[in-house]
Amino acid sequence: MSCMSQASDKTTAMWVLRRLRSAGFEALFAGGCVRDMLMARPCSDYDIATSATPQDVRKLFPHVLLVGAQFGVAMVIRNRRKVEVATFRSDLSYSDGRRPDGVKFSTAREDALRRDFTINGMFYDPVARQVIDYVGGRDDLRAGVIRTIGRPQERFSEDYLRLIRAVRFAVRLDFKMEEQTAAAIRKFAPKISAVSGERIFEELSKMLALPSAADAMAMLRETGLAEHVLPELFSMAPVASGAGETAGAWAAAAGRLALTARRRDAILNFAAMLCGLDARTIGRIVRRWGASNDIKDALIWIAENRGRWQTAADEPLCEFKRLLADENFGRLRAIWAAEEKTRTGRGAKARLIARRIAAIPQDEIAPPPLITGADLIEMGLTEGPRLGKILRRLYDAQLNGEISTRRQATERAKSLIEAK
Ligand code: ATP
Ligand code: MG
Repeated sequence: MSCMSQASDKTTAMWVLRRLRSAGFEALFAGGCVRDMLMARPCSDYDIATSATPQDVRKLFPHVLLVGAQFGVAMVIRNRRKVEVATFRSDLSYSDGRRPDGVKFSTAREDALRRDFTINGMFYDPVARQVIDYVGGRDDLRAGVIRTIGRPQERFSEDYLRLIRAVRFAVRLDFKMEEQTAAAIRKFAPKISAVSGERIFEELSKMLALPSAADAMAMLRETGLAEHVLPELFSMAPVASGAGETAGAWAAAAGRLALTARRRDAILNFAAMLCGLDARTIGRIVRRWGASNDIKDALIWIAENRGRWQTAADEPLCEFKRLLADENFGRLRAIWAAEEKTRTGRGAKARLIARRIAAIPQDEIAPPPLITGADLIEMGLTEGPRLGKILRRLYDAQLNGEISTRRQATERAKSLIEAK
C-alpha cells in the first residue's frame, strides 16, 4: 500500500545519482527497478546502491532520513519524492526473522550476491547505459525464471521471507520457478512461521494487490506455504457446504478471491480470504501481522455482514442505508457478489441490490438527523440508554422516509417518550 506522492521518480533518482558521483562515490540503480526497466514495465521506485555510507549521504543532501542507517540505508528527499540510497553491503544473518543482525559495507559485487533472486540482483548505470550483472539475472529474465542467487537452501535459510517473495515474483511476472529453487521452497515451507508477521503482511499486501492475486494464493497452497501463513483457514472443520462450495475454508476463500482479484484492492482481497472466519480470529490474525486498526475494523465489518447478500434487498430501508453509508460498502458488495456467485452460480440478488441502491438518492443515505439528543433532553429526557434507543428509532424513521420534517420528528419523539 504505497503512497504515490512519495514514490521516487527517475528524474529525482538521476539527480541523486549524479550528485553522489560528482562527490567521488560509485552509484548505480539497483534491484527491482533494473528488473522492471529491462522488462519495459512501469517502475515506481528507483533504488540507488552506492559506495557512500549513510553519513556521507547525509552530508551531501539537504534532506535525508536515516531510516536504517545501521543497515546502510538512507532516504534522500527532494520535492516530496524519496529515493532510497543504500550502501553496498553484505548482510549478516537474520536470526530474529525481522532484519539482518548486522551488515558489512562492501562492494557492488557483494551487494549483488546478498540479494534474493537473480532477476533482482542487477545494477544499471544510467549514464553509461549499461547493465551490470554479476548473477546471471539477464539470462533468467529472458528465460522467465525465478532462481535464487547462490544455493537455494542456503539463501532461504538466511531469510525465510524469501520463500514468499519467490512466489510473489513468479506470479507477478508470470515466471517459472527454477527446479532447485522450487524444491527448496517446498522443503522449507513450514519455516515461514519463523518470519515476523509484519514482513509477511507486507508481502501478502503486495500479492493481493495483483490482478493475479488468486494465482498467488494458489501457488502459496501448492508450495505448502499457505497452511503456515494462514493456519486459521486449515484448522477449521470443513463447513457444511452450499452448492458450488467445495469443502474447507481455504477453498471457499480462494473461490471468492478469484472473483474479487481483478479489482486490485488488497483490502478487498484480504476480506475475500478472511471473511469466513469469526471476528476474534480475524482480530488475532491482524494483530499477528501488525496491521492497522482500520484494516482490522474493515475486515471484521465485512465478515460480520458477509451473509446479508441473501437478505439485503428486502431488509428495512434504514438497515440497508446503514450498510450503504459505510466506507467499506463497495468492498462488502463485491464480497456479496462473490458469495452469491460461488454458492448459486448466478447474480439474481446482486441485481436486486443494484436496483435498490440506484433508487436511493446520494443525500438520503446518511442525512443529518432531523432531531438530536440535545432536543430530546430539552423535551425532558435524561441522558442514558433510553435516550439513545429513542434517538436511534427516530433516525430509523427518518431513513425509512416515515418522517421528513423537524415537526414530524418532534411529534414522533413525543409519542415515543410517552410510550415509555
Ligand atoms: P517491488 O516492485 O515489489 O517493490 P522490488 O524488487 O523492488 O519489487 P523490494 O522488496 O522493494 O522488491 O526490494 C528491493 C530489492 O532489495 C530487491 O529487488 C532485492 O534485490 C532486495 N531484497 C529485498 N528483500 C530482500 C530479501 N528478503 N532478501 C534479499 N534481498 C532482498
Ligand atoms: Mg521495491
